[in-house]
Amino acid sequence: MSGSPIGLAIELADEERSGAARTRALAAAKALGAGGVAFAAGDDDATRATIDAAKGAGLAVTLQVAGGALAGKCPNDPDARTAAAARAGDAATKHAPAAIELVGFGFPESRAALDGALRFLDALCGCAGCARRGAARKLDVAKLAAKGRKLVEAAGGASATKGAPPLERPEEIGPWLVRQLGAGEAAVLLSVRRESLVAQVQDVRRRLPPGVALRSVAHPSPFVGGRALGGGLVALADLLDGFTLDGPADLATADAKSLAAAVKSARTAAQPSSAFTLRLALPGPEGRDATKSLLRAAIGEGLAAVRFAGTSRWSDTDLAELRAVAAAKR
Ligand SMILES: [Zn+2]
Repeated sequence: MSGSPIGLAIELADEERSGAARTRALAAAKALGAGGVAFAAGDDDATRATIDAAKGAGLAVTLQVAGGALAGKCPNDPDARTAAAARAGDAATKHAPAAIELVGFGFPESRAALDGALRFLDALCGCAGCARRGAARKLDVAKLAAKGRKLVEAAGGASATKGAPPLERPEEIGPWLVRQLGAGEAAVLLSVRRESLVAQVQDVRRRLPPGVALRSVAHPSPFVGGRALGGGLVALADLLDGFTLDGPADLATADAKSLAAAVKSARTAAQPSSAFTLRLALPGPEGRDATKSLLRAAIGEGLAAVRFAGTSRWSDTDLAELRAVAAAKR
């Protein structure tokens, strides 16, 4: 493991982009020793003022741009795709941040209470844009999407495998999907989806002025959508300067081993040179011990940086301790 220090950053919630909340958040960044700050790009004065305040505090600014998937739109929907790329390009041109971070530039996700395999099928898109991409590869995507919905119905419950544990990991979902859809169909489907992600990110890249880095929230599994670009991390590496991994939703109850395994699996699915930032939403200060063990476990897997959301809830003393954990030799 390298002995180079890990980068630390904070993420601001919308309400931390003005007034006393912003002052407190930037003070927390200092206590943490953070070198960067990320927050949502808006066309409001708060975005401009927060950029100025952050730059004044010596922080590198990452502006987050929302993609169509957050609104249930497919990346192959031409209008949604153009609008999302334009939002990213405009934010980069107008505000000259250090980086743009894509949030929700992959496929939409199913909100249904199903396992990972069924959620994938439930959200499978058969729109005209997807159908066109599929047709170029001799795959009827609309027919496959309809078949997917039938499979979800037929499962009649939360799990793809009746009576067996739910399918959540990509190495379990993949083989199951091959049995349901056929090996050729499943492979071409995943390849078409990967192409769609790459094309969407290329659209964004073309609109960025030189000098602005481009990163995205990402997940190693091609069966994941929503906030993350799911899968294709090797193909996306040339277009992106880094990936952001969402940490567990509740750090206070999360398991350090599983988190370390998740980071490792993401790094394994990407090129060795790809830089990963782990995003951790801090629990209340009572979760400080749990957070420290998670941080220790995760940085052991070779992250480039860790970004904390919710830092304003912690005292400067607690944040300084977190900084010390991150600075400890890996
Ligand atoms: Zn589609």
